[in-house]
Amino acid sequence: MIVINYIINFNYNIICIHKILCLFIKLISLATTKPVIFAFKFSKIVCMRKFLYIIPLAFHQLVYSQASKKAVPCYDFTEVLKVEPTPLYKPHLDASRSFNVNILKNTSQVQKYINKGKFHTVKKSGKGYKVQKLDYSRAYLVSKAKITLEKIGSRFSKETKGHNFTVSSITRTLEDQCRLRKVNANASLGISSHNYGNSFDISYVRFNNKLKTNPKLEVALEKVLKYYANAGRIYYIKERQQSCFHVTVRNY
Ligand SMILES: [Zn+2]
Repeated sequence: MIVINYIINFNYNIICIHKILCLFIKLISLATTKPVIFAFKFSKIVCMRKFLYIIPLAFHQLVYSQASKKAVPCYDFTEVLKVEPTPLYKPHLDASRSFNVNILKNTSQVQKYINKGKFHTVKKSGKGYKVQKLDYSRAYLVSKAKITLEKIGSRFSKETKGHNFTVSSITRTLEDQCRLRKVNANASLGISSHNYGNSFDISYVRFNNKLKTNPKLEVALEKVLKYYANAGRIYYIKERQQSCFHVTVRNY
């Protein structure tokens, strides 16, 4: 419907611009050659003023269709809810739902939780970790998740004598997820545990801010994650397509 509207409006605009241009050329040519005919034709042209109202009308329609396009979310929420999580992923979603945070759809909902004091800013770097530039996620987590990330970083730093890992993604809204899907077809179509503020991704190919595989540090990182998973504090999945560990903090 929006597309049809847009095409109609576009055609209107083309017709209007074409008519105005034709009239303009006629005016100039007549004014310079035949003044009497010009006067006659000009009165005729004035009678064609009815065309002029089409311009603001078409403009209004165009603006209106653009505005309505903005109001329509980029996802179908009922379809998003229908996507069944894999058995491996299900515990992550169950853990996320235990924090009393509703699925984050857009920026204003994230802001609501920040204002309430429920979401906390994740520092760009801390002991044992760095947060890379986030294009499709936001550096906010619920308190327990933020503290757990800091503990994972601190333990990793201690075990590796000062190395650090990279956090590659944190909290995402459903709108962020639409944008991500445009560049990464593997991004979840359904609900992600990143949509609740208690999940983050840790790259296993970027240590000390350098994109380079490091099997020793990768093993050390997984050892730390295993320790917290066994302690009942996190769930984690090794995501090979993204070269990261997807970590979800449980409400322990
Ligand atoms: Zn993830």
